[in-house]
Amino acid sequence: MLLKIALPVPLGDGCLVYSLPEGMSMPKRGARVLVPLQKRETVGIFTAQCTDEPEFEIRDIKEIWDDSSFLPPHLLDCLEWASRYYMYPLGHVIDEAIPGGLLSERTPRTGRHRRVMTESGGSGRAYERPCLNSEQTVAVEAIETAITRGEYAPFLLYGVTGSGKTEVYLHSCERALAMGRQALILVPEIAMTAQTIARFQARFGEVVSAVHSGLTPAQRKNEWRRILKGDAKVVVGARSAVFAPVWNLGLIVVDEEHDSSYKQEEKFRYSARDIAVMRARISSAVVVLGSATPSLSSYRNAVSKRYRLLTLTKRVEERALPVVSLVNMREDIQNKREKKRRKRREGVDTTHDSNNLSWLSQELDAAILQTLERKEQALLFLNRRGYASHIFCADCGHVFSCEHCSVSLSWHRKTRRVKGSSEDETGMQGFLLCHYCGKSLPAMPVCPKCEGTNIKTLGCGTERVVDDLRSRYSGARVAQLDRDVASAKGYVEELLAAFRDREIDILVGTQMVTKGHDFPYLTLVGVLFADLGLNLPEYNAGERTYQLLSQVAGRAGRAGLEGHVIVQTWLPEHYVMEYVARHDYAGFYETEMSFRSRMNYPPFTRMINLLFNSPNEKDVQRAADYVRGHAEALRTAKGPHYASMEILGPAPSPISRLKKQYRWQLLLKGVKGLHAFCEELLAGLDMKRMQGVRLQIDVDPLSFM
Ligand code: ADP
Ligand code: ZN
Repeated sequence: MLLKIALPVPLGDGCLVYSLPEGMSMPKRGARVLVPLQKRETVGIFTAQCTDEPEFEIRDIKEIWDDSSFLPPHLLDCLEWASRYYMYPLGHVIDEAIPGGLLSERTPRTGRHRRVMTESGGSGRAYERPCLNSEQTVAVEAIETAITRGEYAPFLLYGVTGSGKTEVYLHSCERALAMGRQALILVPEIAMTAQTIARFQARFGEVVSAVHSGLTPAQRKNEWRRILKGDAKVVVGARSAVFAPVWNLGLIVVDEEHDSSYKQEEKFRYSARDIAVMRARISSAVVVLGSATPSLSSYRNAVSKRYRLLTLTKRVEERALPVVSLVNMREDIQNKREKKRRKRREGVDTTHDSNNLSWLSQELDAAILQTLERKEQALLFLNRRGYASHIFCADCGHVFSCEHCSVSLSWHRKTRRVKGSSEDETGMQGFLLCHYCGKSLPAMPVCPKCEGTNIKTLGCGTERVVDDLRSRYSGARVAQLDRDVASAKGYVEELLAAFRDREIDILVGTQMVTKGHDFPYLTLVGVLFADLGLNLPEYNAGERTYQLLSQVAGRAGRAGLEGHVIVQTWLPEHYVMEYVARHDYAGFYETEMSFRSRMNYPPFTRMINLLFNSPNEKDVQRAADYVRGHAEALRTAKGPHYASMEILGPAPSPISRLKKQYRWQLLLKGVKGLHAFCEELLAGLDMKRMQGVRLQIDVDPLSFM
C-alpha cells in the first residue's frame, strides 16, 4: 500500500510517497506519520493513497503517531484546496500554516496557561455591552439563523464606519458559542486591531485565543495547542489565523474584508479572505465579510445574491458621518502666491507670513487652529514616511537611489525611534533609506557623482510634517505614528493611549492610523497628498484610494462631537474624490465597475500573474520570453478550448529591480479555464530553460508593483 505524505520541508512539491509496512494498520487521513527523509527522520501528514506505480525505490513509514486526524479534517481539505488554487505545493502550504516544530511534538504539550495579553492601548478598559439597534438586530438574527442550520452561508455586512459592525460580530459569536460551535475572527494587521482583540477578550475572557504576528514562535505554538485541544473557542487573529485548527467551526468573520493585508505578497501568495470563504464552505459554516468599503468583488457577489447582504446604514446613536471637504491644491498654491504678492505690493513684510508651507492648505491651516482652540484633536494622514522621498543633486541632476532596487532613497532626518528629538537644522544629518529593501546609508551632503554640495529634496513625508507643525503651532503637542516609530515594542500602544488621553493634540501618521481606532475628541482629519495612490500603475488604484480615504475619514467625529475631514488633492475632479466627499459607496461602485468592465479587469475577468526573478537581467528576460512562447503555443494547440486566454507581456515589473533581483512578469487573463491553462502551461515547461530564474505564481493578484 502506497501513501502520500505531505512533509513540511522545502523539497519538490512537498509530498512524497512511502509504503505501509506489513502489519502496520492503515492510518486515518490527516494523521501524522514518522518517515525517513534522506539520512534523518521527519514527521509528515498522511493525505491520500497513491495509485500510481512509482518508478523509484519506496521507503517504509516508520511509525504512525495519531489514531485520528491531527488537524481538523476540514482544515486539511481546505489546505489541499489552497494548494491547488494558489498552485503552491501542499507540503509548503502546511509548513506555512502550522507553527514550526509543532508537528513533531509527539503529544502536543499544553503549555502553562500563561495568558498572552494583547498589547492593547486600552488594556484594562471596560467595554460595555450595548443593546443592539434595529439594523444590528436584523443582522445578528440572520447570522444566528444561518448558524443554526449548520450549512454554508456567506454574508456581506456592509456598514458605514462606526455603525457597530464589531458589536454584530460579538453578538453572533456569542450565539455560535451558545450552540456549542466555535468562531474564527480575522482582523487586519495587529497594530490597528489590538482594540478589536481586546473587545473580544473583554467579552469572552479565557476562551479567546489571539493569534497574530506579534507572538513569539513559542507563544504561537502555545496558542495552537490550546486551539487543537479545544480550550480556545474563539480565535481572533490576523491573516495566518485563517489556518487555526478550530474543530467545530460555526462562524468565520473577516473584519475589514477589503483590507490588502489579507493578501500575502510573498512565497505562498494567498488571500486569507478568500480562503476563509472556502473554509466556511468546506466546514459548512457561516462566514461574515464586514466592511464600510467592501471590495468590488465581494459587493458584486452580494449584488448577484451569491452572498447575502446585511447593511448598517447609520452610525450608532444617530451620530453623523463627518463632513468631507475637498481642497484643490492647485488653487490653494495660486491663492497663496497672490496673497503674498498683494501683501508685498502693500509693503507688508511676508517673511514671517502665516503659512509658508506648500503642503498645508489655508483651509486645513484654519481648521487646525480652530481645533486646537477648542481643545479637540486632529489627525493628519499621509502615506509617506521619512523627511523627504527624493534627494538629488541640483548641480548634476544625480538622484540618490538604492544600489539594490530601482527606487529612489528616502531621507530620514532623525535616527529611528527618537521621540521628539531636537536636532540641529543645518546640513544633512540622519540617513538615506530604501523603503523596499531596508538598505540605509548615512546622509551625505556631497554628491557622489560631481562632488557638488547643492543637494535638494522633494516630496515631504511624516517627519517633515511633524517638524513643520511644531514650528507653526507653537505649544501644540505633535506626535508621529508610522513604521519608523512603531518598531519599538509597545510604543504604538503607548502613543495611542496618550492620544486617547488627550496628551497629544495632533497625530501625524501613515496607513497605521487609518483603521480601528476610536478617539472621542478627534474631530478633524486632514488628508495630505490624497492622490498619491491614484497614479500608481495598478488596475485597482481607484478602489484602494477610495477605501483608504473613506476609512481615514471615518476616524473623525465618532463619539458625539461633530467631525470634519479635509482632503487635500491635486485632482479634486477625480470621481474617487467626489464619491469620498459624498460618502457615496454605491455611486463609486457603479462608476468603478463600468471602468473595470470596459478594461476587462477583475471582477469581470480572472488573472494569474507569473513573476520571474533573477540576479541576472538576461536570464530573467529569456525565461519570461520562453514561457510566453510556450503559452502561445499551448493556446494555439488547444484551439477553441483556450482561445479566449489573454497573454500579456512579458514586461519588467514597475519596480524592475528589488533586493538585487531583476523582476519580470507575464500576465494571464481569462474567465473559464484560466487555472487549467496555467497548470498545463507550468507542467509542460522545460525547467532547464528556467535555470537561474525563480518563478512565482500570483493567483488573483492585487498588486503588480
Ligand atoms: P464599527 O465596527 O462599525 O466601526 P463598532 O462596533 O466599533 O463600529 O461601534 C462603534 C462604537 O459604538 C463602539 O464604541 C461600540 O461600543 C458602540 N456601539 C456599537 N453598537 C452600539 C449600540 N447599539 N448602541 C450604542 N453603542 C453602540
Ligand atoms: Zn533597496
